Amino acid sequence: MKKLTEVEKIIERLKGEYPDKPALTYNTTYQLLVAVILSAQCTDERVNMVTKDLFVDYGTPEKMLTLTNLELEKKIFSIGLYKNKANNILKMSKTLVERFNGEVPCEFEDLISLDGVGRKTANVVLSVGFNKPALAVDTHVFRVSRRIGLSSGKTPDKVEEELKNSIKKEDWSKSHHFLIYHGRRVCFARKPNCSMCVIKEFCDYGK
Ligand code: SF4
Repeated sequence: MKKLTEVEKIIERLKGEYPDKPALTYNTTYQLLVAVILSAQCTDERVNMVTKDLFVDYGTPEKMLTLTNLELEKKIFSIGLYKNKANNILKMSKTLVERFNGEVPCEFEDLISLDGVGRKTANVVLSVGFNKPALAVDTHVFRVSRRIGLSSGKTPDKVEEELKNSIKKEDWSKSHHFLIYHGRRVCFARKPNCSMCVIKEFCDYGK
């Protein structure tokens, strides 16, 4: 495990490079939740292209439920796993209307009870939508954290636990975004661009 001072330096360096917010476009917590569900195995740019039109007429759970599965599939077909995602979005919207008065709940357990919402999505919604300290581990956060040496966990849950132990609570949410951006722009899965990396001197892999 890295020393706290080293972890703070890593976060500080990344802070100078990347935004502390997702690249997804949304106006409400519900739209954020839909966008995050759509973003699994898909780029934020592609999701934004689809939601730009979708949210004009179907930006609330009530309006989304006026669509059939097939109609929603047609609107999001350019996104990977669109059939599954359409099904989950409609079921999730139905649950919001029936159990949560049409609002996205702000408790972790309630969020993960929704269709299509796993630990990662719930953490993103908590941190971005409700400003709660949470640290979601997606494929980028998992890979980059392990390469740097911030965690040696072999599962996303273990990496989340170790990151929460080594990063200050007030930095959890932004660190999630920094690590995602770093994974997308520099620390690529196949061939990390270590020569252009601002945290190379702190990285186990880069050294
Ligand atoms: S030095 Fe290389 S492996 Fe380490 S974080 Fe930077 S790009 Fe990734």
